[in-house]
Amino acid sequence: MDMKWPMTLTGEEIDRQYIWHPYTSMIDPLPVYPVERAQACSIFLQDGTELIDGMSSWWAAVHGYNHPVLNQALQNQLQHMSHVMFGGFTHQPAIELTRSLLGILPQGMEKVFYSDSGSVSVEVALKMAVQYWAAQPDSAGSGSKVKFATIRSGYHGDTWKAMSVCDPQTGMHTLFGAALSPQYFVSAPPDDFGERFADRQPAYSLEQAVGQVEDLFAEKHEELAAFILEPIVQGAGGMRFYQPEYLRRVRQLCTQYHILLIVDEIATGFGRTGKMFACEWAGVIPDIMCIGKALTGGYMSMAATITNTRIAEQICMSEAGVFMHGPTFMANPLTCAVARASVDLLCSGPWQENVHRIEQQLVNELQPAIELEKVADVRVLGAIGVIEMKSAVSMAQMQAAFVKEGIWVRPFGKLVYLMPPFIIQPSELRKLTQGVLRVIKTIE
Ligand code: PMP
Repeated sequence: MDMKWPMTLTGEEIDRQYIWHPYTSMIDPLPVYPVERAQACSIFLQDGTELIDGMSSWWAAVHGYNHPVLNQALQNQLQHMSHVMFGGFTHQPAIELTRSLLGILPQGMEKVFYSDSGSVSVEVALKMAVQYWAAQPDSAGSGSKVKFATIRSGYHGDTWKAMSVCDPQTGMHTLFGAALSPQYFVSAPPDDFGERFADRQPAYSLEQAVGQVEDLFAEKHEELAAFILEPIVQGAGGMRFYQPEYLRRVRQLCTQYHILLIVDEIATGFGRTGKMFACEWAGVIPDIMCIGKALTGGYMSMAATITNTRIAEQICMSEAGVFMHGPTFMANPLTCAVARASVDLLCSGPWQENVHRIEQQLVNELQPAIELEKVADVRVLGAIGVIEMKSAVSMAQMQAAFVKEGIWVRPFGKLVYLMPPFIIQPSELRKLTQGVLRVIKTIE
C-alpha cells in the first residue's frame, strides 16, 4: 500500500474528506474550527483566536481545561500503568475512585459498574433492569418484564436501546424509527422549574402528566422493567426544567407498580443543576443511576451505572449467576485516576458557590433577551442558561458569529444555551452572555 499519498494532503483536507464529526454530513460538512490548545475557560484556535467556553465540552469540563491537578493525576498514573484488563484484576485507581464516589452518591447507591461512555452506561442500566426481573424467584418477572417507559423530550444516548428511549421526534433518532425497539412514552412534565421569564402556560398540568404515568403503569406494569428519565433537567431532547414534585410522584408510582426507576444523571450529575445530583432536588433515591460526562472533569470518556445492594444481589441470583456485561476498557486505570482527582477536586472546592454565582449572573444577563421578538423563552437553572428562539436557528451561521465574538457556543434547533465551566470568572461569563445577546439580536 502506498502510505505516501496522505502526506500530500493538508490537515483540513484530511479532516473534511476522511473524518466524521458528530451529527455531520460527509458530503457537505459544517465548518469545524481547528483547536490548538485549551486553558481554564479559554479555547485557542490554531489561528490564535481565543474563545471563551460556554459549553464545557458538552457538560463535561466543569473545572475548565488543562487543570494542573488533573494533569498531575494522569501523569502519576501513567508511571504505573495505563491499562490492564478488569477481568481477574483490580487496582488502586478503581478502588479509590469508588471510595470517592461512595461519599457523594445518593444513599444506598453503592454497586458501581464502570463503562466507557454515557450511552453504554444506559445500555448497562437497561440490561440490569431486565436481568433483575428475569431473576425473580416467583412469577413476578417470568421473562415478561422487558419493556421500558419514559417521558417525551428525553435523550439517553446514541446506542440502540438508549435510542429507543430517546424522544422519537426531538431525540435525534427519528430516522431509525422502525429499527428501534418500541417503548412506551408519556408526556414530559411541564417545563416550569428554575428561573423563567416568558409568561407561558404549559399545555397540561403536572397532575395530568403524573396521571399519564399512573394510567400507563396500571395497564402495562407486567411488561415494564423500568421507567427511565433525566432528573429535573432534560438536556439534548429540549433543555427543559421540570418540578421535583414530578420526580417524587414517579418514584412513588414505580415502587407501587414494581417498576424500577432509572435516573440518567449523565448530564446533570456533579453539580451542574446546583445540587451534586439532580435527584437531590426531589429527595428521591433511584433504583439505578447513570453518571458520565463530568465524572472525569471532561478529560476522558468514562461512565458508570450504579445500583443498590438488593438489586445487585437479585441480578446475581439469575440463572447466569452474574451480570452479563464486561467492556474491554472497564475501569481503565488512567481514566479512574483522573476521575478520582476530578471528583475530589470538586468536593474540596466551592462548587456550590460557583454554580450559584453563575446562576445569578445568567439570570441577570440573559433576562433582557426575553424582550426580543424572536425569543420564545429564557430560563436558568444552576449553571445552565437557555434562550429558546421561536424558530430553529442556523447552527453554522450562528456559530461563525459567536466565534467572531470570541465565544464558543453551539446552538441546536431553537435552543441557544450556556453551560460554562464552574470556574468561569464573572468577566468571562459576561463576555459570553453579551456575545450571545448581540448575535441573536442581529442574526436573521
Ligand atoms: N444521557 C444523557 C442525559 C446525555 O446528555 C448524553 C450525552 N449527551 C448521554 C446519555 C450519552 O452519553 P455519551 O455521549 O457519553 O454516550
